[in-house]
Amino acid sequence: MAKLTKQIDDAVLIAPGEKVNLKKRDARADDLFPDREAAEAATKECAKAIDALQNALWAEHSRALLVILQGIDTSGKDGTVRGVFNKCGPLGVNVTAFGRPSEEELARDFLWRIHMAAPKKGMIGVFNRSQYEDVLVVKARGLAPAEVIEQRYEQINAFEKHLTENGTTVLKFMLNISKDEQKERLQARLDEPEANWKFNPSDLEDRALWDEYQKAYEVVLDRCSTEHAPWRVVPADRKWQRNAIIASVVHKTLEEMNPKYPKPDWKASDFKVI
Ligand code: AMP
Ligand code: MG
Repeated sequence: MAKLTKQIDDAVLIAPGEKVNLKKRDARADDLFPDREAAEAATKECAKAIDALQNALWAEHSRALLVILQGIDTSGKDGTVRGVFNKCGPLGVNVTAFGRPSEEELARDFLWRIHMAAPKKGMIGVFNRSQYEDVLVVKARGLAPAEVIEQRYEQINAFEKHLTENGTTVLKFMLNISKDEQKERLQARLDEPEANWKFNPSDLEDRALWDEYQKAYEVVLDRCSTEHAPWRVVPADRKWQRNAIIASVVHKTLEEMNPKYPKPDWKASDFKVI
């Protein structure tokens, strides 16, 4: 287990300042998880352990874990939530999806809605998209002036530092799928009537901006992988490999946080329930 988690981080963790070329990164993780059944079994074990550790985190009530999931359309953000946190009690995990900002949200600074959704002490917070949309879609589609976007990388780093210094561990996963895999997944949404609802014509506009998005992600990985909140680029063409990797990192992180059940200031043997 310890050996595997080290291998995973050797493959996915981005060191501060590391230059990433996404074209050169494999969207499959056949070295780490060659066998589907074994990967799925490992994911299940991690999911159970994550639930037990979150229980202790809640009892301890002094720290939180934030898991950020970023990736282009069809990269598997929803599927990851389902695959990794499905053993957690619904009281312990809070998932927030960030779509196009509302008028209320646009009237504030871009981190306002993000900070409002940060997990409370004792909780695991999961973000499906995040503050990074404001330097990704906003950059790829030119929704804000370049100098405004330029300031945001440092603002995001400072915000994440603030969170970590106040007791929230921050994990960031970029779900890396290939252009061919996205084609298949988008086509499947058109081919399967019950998946039609997941398709949005604007997905094709974003696909046409593939290179702009890849570039925007590379800048994010270069400038926002920090000591306090590093990025991990997860090979995501195979859903079961993606889930196994993320479940393993979340599990290991919670183990290292090592949440402790509080000791009561009374002795259980002094009481009797009658
Ligand atoms: P989905 O995740 O498929 O529900 O889509 C949400 C959409 O909201 C995506 O197209 C995102 O790019 C978009 N979105 C999320 N955050 C922002 C933002 N800050 N500014 C503009 N668009 C955003
Ligand atoms: Mg979408």
